Amino acid sequence: MTSTTVFVSGANGFIAQHIVKQLLAKGYTVIGSVRSHEKGEQLKQLINNDQFSYEIVSSLIDKDAFVDVLKKHPEITVFLHAASPVSFSVEDIENDLLKPAIEGTTNALNAIKEYGPQIKKVVLTASAVNIFGFGPHFDADQVYSEDVWNPITYEESLANGFFGYLGSKKYAELAARDFVAKEKVNFDISFVNPPYVFGPQAYVVKDKANLNLSNEVVNSVVKLTKGDSIPAEGSVFVDVRDVARAHIVAFENDAAASQRLFTASSRYTLDTIANIINKKFPDTTVPKGDESRNEEIYKSIHKFDNEKTNKILGFEYITLEESVSDIVDQIYNV
Ligand code: NDP
Repeated sequence: MTSTTVFVSGANGFIAQHIVKQLLAKGYTVIGSVRSHEKGEQLKQLINNDQFSYEIVSSLIDKDAFVDVLKKHPEITVFLHAASPVSFSVEDIENDLLKPAIEGTTNALNAIKEYGPQIKKVVLTASAVNIFGFGPHFDADQVYSEDVWNPITYEESLANGFFGYLGSKKYAELAARDFVAKEKVNFDISFVNPPYVFGPQAYVVKDKANLNLSNEVVNSVVKLTKGDSIPAEGSVFVDVRDVARAHIVAFENDAAASQRLFTASSRYTLDTIANIINKKFPDTTVPKGDESRNEEIYKSIHKFDNEKTNKILGFEYITLEESVSDIVDQIYNV
């Protein structure tokens, strides 16, 4: 058991719920932030553990967003910032994506600097989109690693919701790096940079028709029936339980300080996902995938090398087969 108290922003999110669950299992005390009392109560009921409590942080762009929480809880020594908008379709790219991500990050770091001098470890949930280039910036010959940055500019990120999301994550990570380079801070910061995150919900499947954005990739295949064609698409994935684990390594293991943890398991295609579903659930109506197309599809998917991260993490990633099986099992059976 440990007496350490860890703060997790956006605690009701898909990834954050797994982080909270794993922290509690390891004996940490956890304080999570949510945007409303209703969401907090719902989460508290789901988690059902006395070591968990919540605070309300209603707006990330409020300069004082995290000040009250830190004044009230001087026992927090680890701060995990997972809250950020996750959407490719917003009305106002700057106000709905870029500002909450970037200002939310600097507001958190400012509050820690001013009101949390006892905080020694900070982890930012960043993204593999801060590494991978997309559209005109995709390079089929590039092997993407921890040292690479997505070249997207702030102006380019205003072009559409997808680019807006890319910019929101890249410029939030840059803002955090800039902050610690310029300010005198008492903490180590590290970054977790996952690609598409699949896997089961930590506590419950809320709405099977609409899962969180990344699991909707798997759900889009689940929704296909015989005769439907499978889009020739794919990307890079990691299981949510590994992403949560990486957040814990990020503050427990000093080797992670200042590092990017580029948590990536493998590339995937929708054909492979369809075949995993057919193998695991023989009664499914999902059409069979044509994996002979995979090599062709892989040409448009990022190649990556995350050996540096894997050495720090020290665990094997959950496979696509296990991850997809577990989320589809929840969709079909819970
Ligand atoms: P979820 O949408 O499930 O969780 C997002 C969390 O952030 C929720 O708690 C949400 O609150 C909160 N949030 C969103 N927008 C705001 C805002 N404007 N102000 C305050 N809080 C906000 O997403 P994930 O769990 O998938 O994502 C968590 C983190 O992981 C994000 O930083 C995301 O960018 C990052 N990430 C996710 C990947 C993925 O594939 N899922 C891949 C790489 C990185 P509420 O519920 O109230 O909306």
